[in-house]
Amino acid sequence: MTVLALEVGAAGFAAGQVDDDIGSDAIRRIPLPDSEPWEGCRDLLLEVAAGTEVTALGIACAGPIDMAAGVVASVEIPQWRTGFAIAEAARKLFPTAAVSMALDGVCLALAERSFGGAQDAMDSLAISLSDHIAGGVTVGGFAVVGRTGNAGSIAHMLVPGFDEPCECGGRGCVEAVASGAAIRRWARGQGWSGDSLSALLASAREGDDIALAALGRAGTTLGKAISSAAALLDIDLVIVGGSMASAGPALWKPLGEAVAGSSRPGYLAGLRVLPSQLGDLGVLAGAGVLALLASK
Ligand SMILES: [Zn+2]
Repeated sequence: MTVLALEVGAAGFAAGQVDDDIGSDAIRRIPLPDSEPWEGCRDLLLEVAAGTEVTALGIACAGPIDMAAGVVASVEIPQWRTGFAIAEAARKLFPTAAVSMALDGVCLALAERSFGGAQDAMDSLAISLSDHIAGGVTVGGFAVVGRTGNAGSIAHMLVPGFDEPCECGGRGCVEAVASGAAIRRWARGQGWSGDSLSALLASAREGDDIALAALGRAGTTLGKAISSAAALLDIDLVIVGGSMASAGPALWKPLGEAVAGSSRPGYLAGLRVLPSQLGDLGVLAGAGVLALLASK
């Protein structure tokens, strides 16, 4: 009787068994393989299942997805860009399991609402900042899924003042300016010589001007997008997690200034933007919530 959670991200896969506390002491991660991604993903799932009977599997996918069809078509996973039926593949792997999938941002919203910082908030926005940006919305206490499963995709909101091309085909998306991949690309264009998001965060901690400027651009962009989303949704709480959220004032100061300097209708007077307590585990933990909901 094993419940599994799987995160399909821009940089790779993470999976673990879900215990009663929806935590996991045995999370396994693999980078995105160069070959067919499902082969690596399947091996990872079999490893964490450890030969036990899997009764439920929750899958959090970087978008876009077709939730009804169980298809992931993430723009960041080249081999799956035209769509991969991941739910069907997972059902073949674990025939007795209840398999469910949702957008990574929806899973994040589920996790924050279930045991994170949004437990007392009926209306909130959860954002994960790492190589890829995930977002999910809770309205009236429930995570919003949307027509195709992609509601909450703050990554593809347009931000005034920016024109960078985005993987989705648009220009000036939040993802194209503020994601970990985007800020690394921008920083390298300015002369920074590192190669990973963690290296860029380390450079910023050491006071590197380019790394600090990259995080500053990301913070400003996110602050503008957060203000727009809050105005649209009439929410009063935004929770920001993921590996970039630990960047400290280099990210949070410009983010807060952009929120404060953006359009502030009276109903947003109490808007709070807080760091997540779930670190970079929010999305995977939300996949665990999804699995537990499906197994009941
Ligand atoms: Zn886009």
